[in-house]
Amino acid sequence: MIIVLRQGHPVAVAQVTQELEEHGYQVLPVFGVEKTIVCAVGGDEHKNVDFLEQLRAHEFVEDVLLITRPYKIVSRESQPERSVIDIGGVKVGGNEVVMMAGPCTVESEEQVTQTAEVVARAGASILRGGAYKPSTSPYSFQGMGVPGLKILRQAADRFGMKVVTEVMDVRKVELVAQYADILQIGARNMQNYDLLKEVGQSRTPVLLKRGMTARYEELLLAAEYVASGGNQAIMLCERGLRTFETATRNMLDIGAVPMLQSLSHLPVIIDPSQGTGKRDLVAALSRAAIAAGADGLIIEVHPNPDHAIKDGPQSMTFPQFEDMMPGLKRVAEAVGRSMRMKSAKA
Ligand code: PEP
Ligand code: MN
Repeated sequence: MIIVLRQGHPVAVAQVTQELEEHGYQVLPVFGVEKTIVCAVGGDEHKNVDFLEQLRAHEFVEDVLLITRPYKIVSRESQPERSVIDIGGVKVGGNEVVMMAGPCTVESEEQVTQTAEVVARAGASILRGGAYKPSTSPYSFQGMGVPGLKILRQAADRFGMKVVTEVMDVRKVELVAQYADILQIGARNMQNYDLLKEVGQSRTPVLLKRGMTARYEELLLAAEYVASGGNQAIMLCERGLRTFETATRNMLDIGAVPMLQSLSHLPVIIDPSQGTGKRDLVAALSRAAIAAGADGLIIEVHPNPDHAIKDGPQSMTFPQFEDMMPGLKRVAEAVGRSMRMKSAKA
């Protein structure tokens, strides 16, 4: 790192040098015409995060510039080859673009079973659905809980799928992991550090959604929480940002795909459903996501979106989902990827 010192503090170099050496750094001061800087190498900046803050607090320190990134395990620097996460045989981050689809919320056995059958036939290998829902209003439906988890598991098993479902509560991580193949951490919980630590202790893969105002670095530090707990089976998920635009629910950041893939070895999934809030926009943004290199998509589908308890406006109908899939496969192939499709309609 480089510490830039303010002028007019004669003891600054000596004091900073002593502190840095105490923290394991080798120190080289450079005396310029106007400024003095101190270069420090060899210490572990990831373990010295609080020390860096303390350095910044000195009145004679103007700036502390880091050379390394604040996250380590999830960084591409620490692992140049891309991670492939194996979800019981479904590989995310490999050549295949993986489709996750299902309702926003588990409402009934019939709703989930019908949806699973259609999306599996169309090529989805992972069934989504919330049994615990993060609702803005406390009066809104909070999810079916355990009966909802059972419905997801049964439907997924019946159609040869895996389950991705959200866990919101530290106390329920083990319970949800009994039914789920992937633990979803929702956008609202991306910075729930206790929850991140808890799923870090789990051996179930994690789908980590980007907070609606989170920077890439914050998302990757959230992933670092999970990884440093010992669980490195993490998929990053871009699901749209809150911006000035009101025509769409969120603004989907397709640029997140190549950016996150260059910063991290973890697979990147796009959620165009939360990302736009409009079912008619989902197919176009799914194509864009795959063209940009996304490793998978997570899409909301409902037997009757007009009567969905949650997120009806952004939930695709069965025909919409089925009609979208062949085009996605063509885009995937155009960019050198593959997509499974059990019975192509076109
Ligand atoms: C969802 O997947 O239905 C959901 C609530 O997602 P997010 O956390 O991205 O809002
Ligand atoms: Mn939803």
